[in-house]
Amino acid sequence: MTELVYLSDTYLFEIDAKVSSVENTENGIAVILDKTIFYPQGGGQPYDLGEIVSGTNSFIVESVRLDEKGTVWHFGRFINEELSEGDTVSLCINKARRVLNSRLHSAGHLIDCAISELKINSLIPMKGFHFSEGPYVEYDGVVENTNDLISILEDKVNILVNLNLPVEINTSCCNVDKININAPAGKTPRFVNFLGFKPCGCGGTHVNYSSEIGKIIIRKIKSKKGRTKISYSIL
Ligand SMILES: [Zn+2]
Repeated sequence: MTELVYLSDTYLFEIDAKVSSVENTENGIAVILDKTIFYPQGGGQPYDLGEIVSGTNSFIVESVRLDEKGTVWHFGRFINEELSEGDTVSLCINKARRVLNSRLHSAGHLIDCAISELKINSLIPMKGFHFSEGPYVEYDGVVENTNDLISILEDKVNILVNLNLPVEINTSCCNVDKININAPAGKTPRFVNFLGFKPCGCGGTHVNYSSEIGKIIIRKIKSKKGRTKISYSIL
């Protein structure tokens, strides 16, 4: 099991860790550490890229996955010598990618907040895709007049951006029943919300305040066959 340090600080781009093992897998070489700041792909957010360094030896991280036991697998390739079990290493993630992914992920959550502020009760949040290529949030349910809604929603969500709402993160499990979310087996439930809005079960990285997202553009709203997809981007 790997300590998931990225859960407690989005803006921690470098830390030291210890190599637990180096594995040869069918997906390539993987480095396992006692703790990590590398976000593993999941929850609609892409993995971090970066480097794991010990002296002149380094491991270029090309993809990151979290398994069902809570272990993070850093896949990639070695430069110079390989790392060994017990080595103390420095982890460095690509800062621009982490910040962009966090802003996009938080933007998806803030669109949910705007939908609830607008009292569009026909839309039930289903999933989010927060990749920089074509991000969207998807809902169960349909809405009428999607063209009108684009500017109404864009205005509302940017009011929430400008209010500079703090993001609250709660890992206590006492609220699980109350807000009706099932956490994955063996995992501590983690809830994320903008101040004053409903928490949402989420293991992603987020900005600390809504203004860090920047302006949100609602690009398209498609509502058909019982589902509504809201595509967005950020400036
Ligand atoms: Zn999320």
